[in-house]
Amino acid sequence: MRVYNFSAGPAVMPIEVLERAQAELTDWRGSGMSVMEVSHRGKDFVECAADAETLLRRVMGIPDDYAVLFIQGGATGQFAAVPMNLTAPGDTISLVNTGQWSSRAQKEAAALGLEVAVVADEAESGYTTTPEPGSFEAAEGSRYLHYTPNETIGGVEFGYVPDVDVPLVADASSTILSRPIDVSRFGVIYAGTQKNMGPAGMAVVIVRRDLLGHARPGTPSIFDYAKMADTDSMLNTPPTFSIYLLGLILDWVENQGGLEAMGKLNKDKADALYQYIDASPFYSNPVDVSARSWMNVPFLLARPELDKQFVSEAASAGLMNLAGHRSVGGMRASIYNAMPIEGVLALIDFMDGFAARNS
Ligand SMILES: *Cc1c(COP(=O)(O)O)cnc(C)c1O
Repeated sequence: MRVYNFSAGPAVMPIEVLERAQAELTDWRGSGMSVMEVSHRGKDFVECAADAETLLRRVMGIPDDYAVLFIQGGATGQFAAVPMNLTAPGDTISLVNTGQWSSRAQKEAAALGLEVAVVADEAESGYTTTPEPGSFEAAEGSRYLHYTPNETIGGVEFGYVPDVDVPLVADASSTILSRPIDVSRFGVIYAGTQKNMGPAGMAVVIVRRDLLGHARPGTPSIFDYAKMADTDSMLNTPPTFSIYLLGLILDWVENQGGLEAMGKLNKDKADALYQYIDASPFYSNPVDVSARSWMNVPFLLARPELDKQFVSEAASAGLMNLAGHRSVGGMRASIYNAMPIEGVLALIDFMDGFAARNS
């Protein structure tokens, strides 16, 4: 029996993708082997990886002057890889701090000897806001500006792409593929794959080609964007199963109608949940209306002493992984691409019954 899984990551994947992977698992493309058991240098897998890249380029509208890389180590690997590829020790970068993932990126950059100019910091609101458009710019001499379009833990999402005069670097882990995006506005977009792109452990990195070839000495080869681009991300054995599943997911996204359709569906899902929360005296969402995430919806109960009971009764009703991040408490419903609207409506229905029983 499938449940509705509201986990923040690793997260729900489309049932159609899981069933296709299952059907192909023991005999992939008539090879008599699974995709995990074949050589990454063989014709079939090379084609599979190339297809995943082609699909990603088509689905996201990635221009030719951008390289697409598949790199191990998740988004956290990229917190280090971005500085290693784009800066030298002692350089300055700019960073917008909207919460915990921004702050993790900041620490990793500082550890690599960078001056990190925090050009906007939403601490005053308790990280429930994004900065006003146009209210910040890159600090003088910055090599790039880093921001987090969607803060997965706080449920805070930018409704706009910042306009800056240095390369814009985005940790899009929890928002990539959730709606259309103009890739040409960015220097680097990276995303850990375990939210909207498949299993954990890999990052997809989309990097403007003029930023390649500047890695600082000592950069591990597997994190060197130019070396990875030159080898089609096969400098060493790539995470073959992750790349294969990414291809299946992209195929699924395209069959749903692409990012336009995903965006409409995601907005409908988020609107339904926020509208219910706002209308209810029992639940509240702390995030400023202008910064509410379409992907991660935190909410608080009027009686926090019932948090544990809420989580366990929800689980009994087949609504899983609703406890908020350990640092914030309360609840969090992650409603990524693969969460159907039926799951959101079932959650609202459950919330309504729980409130009625406990108000
Ligand atoms: C999940 C997440 C990360 C961490 O990803 P890992 O693959 O665990 O390194 C980083 N940034 C954001 C915005 C995330 O949602």
